[in-house]
Amino acid sequence: MVLEIKNICKNFGGISALTDVSIRINEGEIYGLIGPNGAGKTTMFNIITNMFPPTTGDITFFNRRITGIKPHNITDLGICRTFQNIRLFSQMTTLENVMVGAHCRSKAGVLSGVFRPKSQRTEEQQIREKAIELLELVGLSEYHDVVSENLAYGQQRRLEIARAIASDPKLLLLDEPAAGMNETETANLFDLIKQVQARGVTVLIIEHDMPLVMKLCDRITVLNFGKKLAEGTPEEIQNNPAVIEAYLGSE
Ligand code: ATP
Repeated sequence: MVLEIKNICKNFGGISALTDVSIRINEGEIYGLIGPNGAGKTTMFNIITNMFPPTTGDITFFNRRITGIKPHNITDLGICRTFQNIRLFSQMTTLENVMVGAHCRSKAGVLSGVFRPKSQRTEEQQIREKAIELLELVGLSEYHDVVSENLAYGQQRRLEIARAIASDPKLLLLDEPAAGMNETETANLFDLIKQVQARGVTVLIIEHDMPLVMKLCDRITVLNFGKKLAEGTPEEIQNNPAVIEAYLGSE
C-alpha cells in the first residue's frame, strides 16, 4: 500500500472540515477524491503534504508514519502535488520550471551550473535532459524557451504536472487539474495522467469533471461535509443512491 489515511479529523475553530476519514491507496492506482464544494478534499491534500497537521489521525506512506514531517521532507520521500490555482514560476521559461521541479529531489538545489565543480555541472546537464524528456511527455517540446505565463491555460496545467513529476514522486496529488479546460485539453490531460500511471506513479486526484473521473479512476472516495460518504469503483459510485442524492444528481 502506498498511502494510508487513518481516521483523520480536522477542525478549523468551530468548523469540522474532516471527520474520521480513512482511505487506503494501493500502488499504481489512480484514486479519485470527489464531493461537493467545501467537502474537505483540499484540506485532505494539505494534511497529506503537512501544510498543517490533522487534529487527530495519522497518515502513513509506504508504512512509514509521515504525520508531522516538514512539507519539503514529504517531497523528498516521494509525494508531490499540484494546486487548484496554477502556481508556476510565471517569469521563468517552461524548461526552467521543470528543472526547478527536478532540483527538488537534487541536493544541489540551485539553478545555475556556472560556478560549480564539474561533477555538479554534470548533474545540471542530467536535470536539463530529464526536463526536456518530461516536456516531450506533456506535449510541450516546442515551448522550452517560452516564459510560462505566455503559455495557453491547458499548457500551463500540463507544465505543472511535468514540474511535479520531475521530482520523481511515487505519489502524485492533483488538485482539480481539469478545472477550466476545454474538451480537447481534458482529453489530453486524460492521456497524460494515464502515461504518468504507466511510469509507475500512483495518482490521487481531486476533480469535479465527472466523465473524466469515471473514465480515469480505478477507485473513488466521495466526501460530503467532511465525512466519507462512499468508496468504490466508478461504477459503484455512479450507482450509489446516497452519492447521487448528495453530489452526482446536482452535476
Ligand atoms: P472545493 O471543491 O470547493 O475546492 P473542498 O472539498 O476542497 O472544496 P476544502 O477547501 O477542503 O473543501 O474546505 C473544507 C472546509 O474547511 C470548508 O468549510 C472551508 O471553508 C474550511 N477550511 C479549509 N481550509 C481552511 C483554513 N485554512 N481555515 C479555516 N477554514 C478552512
